[in-house]
Order: sequence, then C-alpha cells, then structure tokens
Amino acid sequence: MARAGRKPKYTDEAAAALFVAATRKLGHVPNSHEFARYAEVSTATAWVMMKNLKLRRTCPACHGTGWIAGLVLAIALNASCGGESPTAPTSVTPPLPPAPTTATVSGHITALNGGQPLANVSVNLGAVTLQTDAAGGFSSTVPFGTTRVTLEAASIVPRSVMAAVNVNRTLNLDAISLSGGFNLNFYRQLVRNTFDVSAGSEPLRRWTQHPSFYMKISDEDGADIDAKSLDATEQTIRRMVPEWTGGHFTVAAFERGTAVRESRVGWININWSNRSIALGASFRCGDAFVGASPGTMNLYYKTTAFCRCPGQSEVGERVVAHELGHALGFWHVAGFENVMGQNSGVCSTALSALEKYHAAIAYRRPVGNLEPDADPSSAIALAPMRVQ
Ligand SMILES: [Zn+2]
Repeated sequence: MARAGRKPKYTDEAAAALFVAATRKLGHVPNSHEFARYAEVSTATAWVMMKNLKLRRTCPACHGTGWIAGLVLAIALNASCGGESPTAPTSVTPPLPPAPTTATVSGHITALNGGQPLANVSVNLGAVTLQTDAAGGFSSTVPFGTTRVTLEAASIVPRSVMAAVNVNRTLNLDAISLSGGFNLNFYRQLVRNTFDVSAGSEPLRRWTQHPSFYMKISDEDGADIDAKSLDATEQTIRRMVPEWTGGHFTVAAFERGTAVRESRVGWININWSNRSIALGASFRCGDAFVGASPGTMNLYYKTTAFCRCPGQSEVGERVVAHELGHALGFWHVAGFENVMGQNSGVCSTALSALEKYHAAIAYRRPVGNLEPDADPSSAIALAPMRVQ
C-alpha cells in the first residue's frame, strides 16, 4: 500500500494506539496540534500520521487497521459520556422531550350585537381569570383539558362556552352587549318562555336549516280551503321566514297537496282544521310546535271571527305569522304591538322592531343555548313542546 506524505516516526499501528491514548486523555478526538504535543512530534508529522490513519480507515482491504480506526471513533463517541471500554458504538434512542401539559389560549371578545371590542370583561379559563384589554384581547397559558369559559362584565349578558384546550389556540368569542337596544326581559320572554311561565328558562329552540313547508289544501273532512287563503298563507310564510331568522334562512320548498303527509326532518306540515278548540274563554286560532323539526302548524279556520281580519284569508295572516314564529322557535311576549303578543284583532303581519332585533340574536346562538347565554357542552336533542 502506498503511503501518503512523509514517513512518520511511528508505524501506523503504533500511531493508531497513540491516537487512541490521546483521545482518552483529552476526552475528545485531538486535532493535529494536540496530537503533535501528545506524540511529541512536529505538527506536520502529526498531521501526516492522522492522515494515514484516515486513509487506512477508508481502505476496504485493510481490515486490521480498520478495526483500530473504528476503535478511535468508538472512544471518541464514548469520551463525552465517560465511556471507558473501547467497545463498538451502540445505537442509542434519544429520550423523548416531555409531553406538554399546557397551552396558550388567546383571543378577542366582541359584541354579538354591534361587533365592537369588549374591554374589561372578566374571562375565566378554568384555572385562570383575567381581564380583556382595551381592544377586547386576552391571552393566558392554561392546563390541557375541556373547560367552560365564562365571560362576565356589567356591560354584557354573562356568557359561557365549552372550549377544548390541547394545543395553542385562538378563541374569539362574542357576548350580548346590554347597550345598543338589547332588552333582556323581552329576550327572555321570546326565547325562554318567561311570559307564559314566569320561571321559564327554556333552552333555545331554533331551526338550523332552510325550512321546507307542506301545506294540506283541504281540512280533516276533505273540504277544500279556498285559494285566496292558501295563497295568502304561503306568501306570508315566504316573506316572514327571513324576518324571523335574522336573514339566516329562506323557504327551501313550499309544496301543497291533499294527502296527509308524514313528518319529515326539515319540513313543517301545515294543516287546516274546521274544529273549534276552546282556550279558556276564547278559542284557539292556531297552534304549532316550538322550533321543532319536523314541525307542524295547525290553522283553525272556522273557530271565530276573532281569528280573521277583513279582506284576509280564513285565518288571518297575523295568525299565520304568529304560528310561524312559534314554529321557528319563539314564545309569547307582552304587548299587542308584537306578533308574538296575544292576538288582539291586529291585522298587520309586520314584526315589531324588538322582535326583529332579538330574534336575530337568537339565530346567532346554537340550539340548546341556556339562560342567560350559556352554550351547551354538546349537541342535545330536545323533546317537542306544543303551544297555541
Ligand atoms: Zn301563540
């Protein structure tokens, strides 16, 4: 084998042994200056010795000195951890970093009604409570887990939502601002049923899809309903679905037929009845299931003139608008000026400003939202409730 460079003072085997010893003593693989001092040779000679070792190591035929060079590497690898024995290097599985147990949750709180940032809101993240800054912002490190986040301030309806924290995340939330026209008493009547039941605290019932309607064109005895009443009812419903839902939904389909149709999710069946159903001292003009899908609206068209208006259909269009309000999730409110107020012979179908404003807020909250403004921890199924 040709030898590169000048002939060294040591044989290659001796140089290798010396290099091993130098590596052990220094605790790392020496450079040519360090090896020169250890071997007591010139730097140039040390460099040649090291170069020859490297050549041997890369020579596939030189098994003997290849083992020596491997030994040098093994010592070098073990040197930093105090290894003594010149055994072959073994593979080492690096230890896993400790699993994180906390994450940073950051976000902004804005008003649902108005969109403005909400400053000085107390944000409780389970383990941590902090205040939003002037821009409505907050940020905190919290333990992993699913926690109920609560928002409280004198300026808002107390709010809570469930949030899962297992990674750094942005959590932008809204709350109902008590400014800007919001009336908590009215909202609770409309959404929680506190007008009819003073202790009412119904979960929010509302539609989550564009509703479709099937209108039966004859009553339960097979008598046809006149075309004017059918047309007026359809027109009222088409016009008022967007109003009742804050513009979220329109009529997906409106079909008519003589057959009794089975209930179907996404559909509200409209029936005409010639029965008179007493309701205290008065008579029922109609009834509906509140916010149910499948839904039902019954119109009692021969009950009493009380349910009709001059020039309108057999059941006044305000009754249709009222029952539609029930079908889309709303309860009775005080005040004859409201469609959801008790029928007083008012013939207009226009929603009041209060009804429009608060119905739109309800349609920004998930089904099952609870008093005062707590979102459910999971999707829940609600039993239908019938109201007239
Ligand atoms: Zn009613």
